[in-house]
Order: sequence, then structure tokens, then C-alpha cells
Amino acid sequence: MRIHDIYEAPFIQEMCEVTKNLWRNGWDERNGGNISYMLDEAEVCLYLDLDHVIKEKDLDFEVKELAGKIFLVSASGSYFKNICKNPAKNLAIVKISDDGKRFKVLWGLEDGGVPTSELASHLKCHAVRLAHDPDHRVILHCHSIAISAMTFIHDLDEKKFTRSLWEMITECLVVFPDGVSVLPWMVAGTVELGLASAEKMHDSRVVIWPHHGIMGAGQSMDDAFGLVETVEKAADIYMRVVQVPGGFRQKITSDQLWDLADQFGVAPKAGILEERSR
Ligand SMILES: [Zn+2]
Repeated sequence: MRIHDIYEAPFIQEMCEVTKNLWRNGWDERNGGNISYMLDEAEVCLYLDLDHVIKEKDLDFEVKELAGKIFLVSASGSYFKNICKNPAKNLAIVKISDDGKRFKVLWGLEDGGVPTSELASHLKCHAVRLAHDPDHRVILHCHSIAISAMTFIHDLDEKKFTRSLWEMITECLVVFPDGVSVLPWMVAGTVELGLASAEKMHDSRVVIWPHHGIMGAGQSMDDAFGLVETVEKAADIYMRVVQVPGGFRQKITSDQLWDLADQFGVAPKAGILEERSR
């Protein structure tokens, strides 16, 4: 089989585009943020010799559910601003071993780097989302601004947080009917944060880390980016309104949100809206 130039691979181009957009939006300053994209082996082998292993390493914890799966991931310490300038230095393609305890680096990390320090958390989140949705592909973490700001002034109860976001843009309920999960503040880069995030991914595709950022899941790059973008925009509107003297004078009501759910055929996460009054 002819091996094509990997820089022509759609998955590399998509990764370059999305990381540039994340940086441009101000959501991934310096080396902030990390991203992982599950790839189809049949597609990857058009660009890489899958038997050529650069190095092999242990994972922080086992992910047997992902045995043999291949991921394109950002490198630890990589600046999203620079990924598109040098993908082979700032990205890696890794394959999970058959026992789910190790990973092989098949491409990238050309300056001797390592995959994102959040690799194990990403993998745990992938495993959870795949159990709910076989079309799931992307986990994305960034330091989106308004969401972070909102965690300083809003109650961190996830039902109240979800309700506030749904009320900010008419289509929020349609984009994330499963709402958002909110963790307590936790130390970044820890196994505990990874496991807690993965646990929350059972309930929703968005996990908010107070005073830090957001983790989002999607079936494609556009889906994951679009989800984070929608949540962030809702938070931005919230932050703008609370700064206006007098704050909120009206909101989208519970009944209106039920009407919206009916129109678009989505089931709002239970326990957030009041019972219909009509
Ligand atoms: Zn972060």
C-alpha cells in the first residue's frame, strides 16, 4: 500500500485548524489545553507504517476498553499557537497496547517530548463516552474565559449551573440537553481529576473545572469544538448580563424550554426544569 504524506492527512489538518482556533479564541494561552482524537486504523495506515514503533511507555492507569485504539494527541507542554507550524514536534500518534496498560508512539514528538500529561484522563473519558456513544471520537480541554469567570460568581451546583446556561441562548438546550457537570476545584494534572472527569462524562459531554476551564467530548472535531463554543458563549452572555445594573429582567422560562425540547425532540436532563405548567 502506498504511504501518503501524513501532513495531507485530514486528521492532522483538522487538529492544526482546531488548535489554532482554540488559541485564537484566547482559550489556550501558553501551553494551556490538551486534545485527543481517536482515529480509524484503516485511515491511519494510509499515512503510517503501524509496525514502526518509536517508543513504548506505561500508562498511569489501565484502559482495557481502548486496547488497540489509535489516538492523535497534543504533546505535553505544546503551545496550541505553534502546533500548526510544527505538527511533528507538537503532536503524537499513539496506539494503546492489547492489555490496555501501555501505549506505543507511532509518530510525532520529534523533539523527544511526551504526550499530554492529561493522556490518562483523556483515555478514561474516551472509554466512558464510547460506552455511551460508539460514534464518539474527541476529548478537548481548554481554558475558555467566560466559563472560568462564571465559576467565580455562580453557584457551583451543576443543576443550577446547567439551568443558567440553558437560559442564555435559545438553542443551548438543543446542543447540550445532557447539561454540564461541575467538579469541585481540584489540582490540575492529577489522576484524581482525570478519574473524576471521566466519572462525570457518564452524565454529560461537558465537565467544568472551576477556576480552570472545561472538558468537552464530541463525535468529531467540529462537534467537540462547537459544544465548547456554545457553552462558552452562553457563559459569556451570562457574564455580560450580570454586569449590567439591575442584571436579569427576564429569562427563557421553564415552559419555554419544554416547548423547545418538544420542537427539537430532545430530552432535557432530569431535575433541572420545573414541571410543565401547561
Ligand atoms: Zn488546563
